[in-house]
Amino acid sequence: MTDNLLADAQSILPEIVAVRRTLHRRPEVGLQLPATQSIVVAELKRLGLEPRLGSAVSSVTAVIQGAQPGPTILLRGDMDGLPLHEDTDLEFASETGDTMHACGHDTHISMLLGAARLLVDRRASLRGNVLLMFQPGEEGWHGARYMLDEGLLDSAPTPVEAAFAIHIGTRYPAGTIALRPGAIYAAADTIHLTVRGRGGHASTPHLEVDPIPVAAEIILALQTMITRTVDVFDPSVITVGRVVAGTRDNIIPETAHLDGTIRTVSEATRAKVHAGVRRVVEGICAAHGTTAELEIEPGYGVTVNTPSFVGMVGDLVIELLGPDRVHVLDAPLMGAEDFSYVLQRVPGAMVQLGARPADVDEATAPQNHSNRVVFDEASMAAGMALHAAVALRYLGGGSGK
Ligand SMILES: [Zn+2]
Ligand SMILES: [Zn+2]
Repeated sequence: MTDNLLADAQSILPEIVAVRRTLHRRPEVGLQLPATQSIVVAELKRLGLEPRLGSAVSSVTAVIQGAQPGPTILLRGDMDGLPLHEDTDLEFASETGDTMHACGHDTHISMLLGAARLLVDRRASLRGNVLLMFQPGEEGWHGARYMLDEGLLDSAPTPVEAAFAIHIGTRYPAGTIALRPGAIYAAADTIHLTVRGRGGHASTPHLEVDPIPVAAEIILALQTMITRTVDVFDPSVITVGRVVAGTRDNIIPETAHLDGTIRTVSEATRAKVHAGVRRVVEGICAAHGTTAELEIEPGYGVTVNTPSFVGMVGDLVIELLGPDRVHVLDAPLMGAEDFSYVLQRVPGAMVQLGARPADVDEATAPQNHSNRVVFDEASMAAGMALHAAVALRYLGGGSGK
């Protein structure tokens, strides 16, 4: 079944690269990506598909109906760029000045369009449907949630039973696939804390309530809480990335403000760490007579891969690309993914496509979100072929159901 997929993907690669470069020149950020959306719509129409547009956000979906009836599998490509200036010397570098496809979502769009073409050509062997999900707002905007709320999983002739996504990155060599059963990405939540004391003269702290040492104690105690309450084999991280207090040396300010991120890889540990943060903050503030205004803002949940589905994907990578191209991760990646919303609803998997150019040193390769990141475009052939192979195998009655 996979015999011709990679060769066919390679033969359409030049056209897919051209689409990718067009997208790369004009990245859009957030939930409304009108120019990107119109390119996707035009490309889908060229394939004879009927794109449907979201109403709340600039999403696009389309269904490839197989020749025979069956369930629906969802394939996802996210579409948004990031708000930063591109500093590569690519001839197709961003022309906007302040946005860049630094997470490679332009390649995700292009690979999914390429996979759609491979699948349209193989409609006869599809027993069921493929739902293409082009989503805006992956970079912290919860774009997938809007699409789910608009009935994404019921927008094909049969309900979506499984879902698959690929993320490109420069951490792994070009053309390799990194995967793992279970958690693949962390949950990411944000701490916003204001410690409120009473301001006054720095020479008389006994007359005031100084919030700064209280904030300092909280920063350290959060690290102790994590290491003393969470199993060392259950990855979890708290980083306080922003501390703001005071204006000059001889003033005790009224408040100290902290912002931090919490990363966990199971929902149980996520809840436990949230409770731990609250306990530490409330306890230390009470001990020193300050008050605390604490908000833990929920971000994306844990992205959890279904083990049997990952097994199917791993087998396909070996068939398509060869046994040396599959890389099983020892531990989850501590980034977070909007695709977690989809995998909370249906089984499936998300994998990483390695796209570090051969001439770039592993140790210093600019990573996703870098102003200098460059992805190996030829790797997109592997991504297209894998998208299509997963759909064909799943609908052909492979494992993973
Ligand atoms: Zn990103
Ligand atoms: Zn991304």
